[in-house]
Amino acid sequence: MKKIEGLRCVECASEFSLAAAKYDCPRCRGNLSVVYDYKAVRKTLSRRSLKADTERGLWRYLDVLPLAGRSGIPPVQVGWTPLYHANRLGAALGLKKLYLKDDGRNPSASFKDRASAVVAARAFETGEKTVAGASTGNAAASLACMMAQREAKPVIFVPRTAPPAKLAQLLVFGAVVLSVDGAYDQAFDLCRQACDEFGWYNRNTGYNPFTREGKKTCAFELCEQLDWKVPDLVFVSVGDGNIISGLWKGFTDFRDLGLIDKLPRLVAVQAEGSAAITNAWKNGGPIRPVDGRTVADSISVSLPRDGAAAVKALKESGGFAVLVSDREILAAIPALARGASVFAEPAGAAAYAGLAKCAASGKVRENDSVVIVVTGSGLKDIASAMKVSGRPHEVGTSMATVRRVAAREKIS
Ligand SMILES: *Cc1c(COP(=O)(O)O)cnc(C)c1O
Ligand SMILES: [Zn+2]
Repeated sequence: MKKIEGLRCVECASEFSLAAAKYDCPRCRGNLSVVYDYKAVRKTLSRRSLKADTERGLWRYLDVLPLAGRSGIPPVQVGWTPLYHANRLGAALGLKKLYLKDDGRNPSASFKDRASAVVAARAFETGEKTVAGASTGNAAASLACMMAQREAKPVIFVPRTAPPAKLAQLLVFGAVVLSVDGAYDQAFDLCRQACDEFGWYNRNTGYNPFTREGKKTCAFELCEQLDWKVPDLVFVSVGDGNIISGLWKGFTDFRDLGLIDKLPRLVAVQAEGSAAITNAWKNGGPIRPVDGRTVADSISVSLPRDGAAAVKALKESGGFAVLVSDREILAAIPALARGASVFAEPAGAAAYAGLAKCAASGKVRENDSVVIVVTGSGLKDIASAMKVSGRPHEVGTSMATVRRVAAREKIS
């Protein structure tokens, strides 16, 4: 592919041609990153070409995606999700320029569709038949969605504890679902073994270098939707670290293409019980596994699969990491819903919990322009939402009780 120079290892910086490496670094097993011929891409991609493009979705960035053409593109709208100026929510935190990117508005209701769409298209182009993936739920649901109209069913490895809504998505879209008696980490390893044995194409986050390429498109959209005024800070929840490394790839790709000259600071929000990337960022050492446990299942990760690239994104962007408790995560769900009309799953609301903490401690200032990325829809995990949202009033069929509730709730 002419627009791609090759793949560069995130850890040892060795470079390989696209043909020479399929997943991780043949030399050190680090993850690989796609390097474009930015000079060549500049000739076709510009602010003006983007402005004239009427496509509403991530394929508007095809010039800087690892695809030869449009033949493998799943026929649903991925990306170009809404960006809201969240005035009310911002005011509550003392922020004037708070924006909310609602990636729960993707076809399978999470950010993961960006990665699955690109990997599915790539698999089609390169003639891969069966695609497999391991996931806490969302990556799987999105792969199943993107592959639904293909002949070969995708093979999905999920932990038995995945929320029922995510399992329902997998089954409805027709994937072959393998429920693993373990956590995400065991599912990931089993998936890799199966891919090795059967020759299936592995979508696993980070290990497959093209997941980051899909995820970077969110950064592209932020630049365009903010009319090229790059924000000061972007808050996002972090498990494997692939979304945050993808956002960083997006911003740096746009810089290397001469489309922006400023870069944002990225903020990784992690759950206290799943903080491997935060630990590595703080200690300056390598990623060490933790015993990942949090109510936010999508960021419950023991060994982050794109940890090195995530820490690099934090360092290079001058950003930082912040930890939030499960209680703060759950409280953020109704806060986001009532302050911005967006219903997020726990991992999606975590970004807001992190911002609330930083705004309270003065780490974020009134005039900073801040984006929170809401990575998944609240309908993915209603059990968690119901824990913190109250209960309906039982009124039987009695008008008298309706009157009592109206009085108690001061409804006139
Ligand atoms: C996957 C996911 C994340 C975290 O992304 P990583 O790449 O694992 O860091 C956050 N929120 C939701 C809803 C997710 O599905
Ligand atoms: Zn390497």
